[in-house]
Amino acid sequence: MPARRKTHVYGPVPSRRLGLSLGVDLVPYKTCSYDCVYCQLGATTSKTVELEEYVPTKEVLADIANWIERDGEADYITMSGSGEPTLHKDLRRIIAGVKELTDLPVAVITNGSLLWMESVAEACALSDLVVPSLDAGSERVFKAINRPHPDITYDLMVNGLREFQKLYDGPIWLEVMLVEAVNDSPELIAAMRNAIASTEPDRIQVNTVVRPPTEEYAGCIPPERLRQMAQALGGEAIAAYDTSHAHGAKISQEGDILELLKRRPCTVLDIASGLGIHENEAVKQLNKMLEEGTVVAERRGKNTLYRVTG
Ligand code: SF4
Repeated sequence: MPARRKTHVYGPVPSRRLGLSLGVDLVPYKTCSYDCVYCQLGATTSKTVELEEYVPTKEVLADIANWIERDGEADYITMSGSGEPTLHKDLRRIIAGVKELTDLPVAVITNGSLLWMESVAEACALSDLVVPSLDAGSERVFKAINRPHPDITYDLMVNGLREFQKLYDGPIWLEVMLVEAVNDSPELIAAMRNAIASTEPDRIQVNTVVRPPTEEYAGCIPPERLRQMAQALGGEAIAAYDTSHAHGAKISQEGDILELLKRRPCTVLDIASGLGIHENEAVKQLNKMLEEGTVVAERRGKNTLYRVTG
């Protein structure tokens, strides 16, 4: 029997910001224009700015059509996944294709680094919500925190965000990730505030590193300080995980993950490949289990391993 191909959709998973979200993964693990120190998915293995058909467009649309036929219940269909979704050269075709299939709103979660490209901006402009990132107020901090592809300068990225805002009628929710000792000093916050204001987002959501990051030194900002810094940035501090939309049946993998971890500690990738689920789904489940205290995370060299408590 021929092996079944990997599906390009996962979930729906409960999402902090979007409720119940069907994830659409448009790039292979881990293809991104950045290599953020705080990335929960691990180090970027393919750092690129080349727009390509990283996964077959036809397959992506077929997977979404199948899901609509057998389930079809979610708050958003979200372009995100194992890296930067705007690297897919057919993003516009995919979003337009989804709109022909369903009335569900489409969101794009992006690092925002490619919005200066006309085709990327035009594709994102077809969506109902764009959630870009901005974590720095200068080139130096941008390089330290996001470790971008050499073709992406800070000015290019911020100008891309500004120009996109003029082109797009829908809401832009900017996410700012604050990392202790990297971008959290009062001077850096002030510089960031100016940059953020110039991009005129509809919402500014400020987050910090509460889950195991790629780099051990990427530290968490305590809640009260985060709240004050969010205020200084003109935004709101967002909770790390919101279970309010979690549907019991959708998160049944938790038991399988526990069984796997009882046998041996695993990385996110071990869990995803062991259970045949998407890395983002594994991360979401693990985040919930960390909050509940059923698992703990431990560093082993470059890796983060998860094991059951006790
Ligand atoms: S956090 Fe997002 S933008 Fe940063 S490296 Fe990870 S996938 Fe890429």
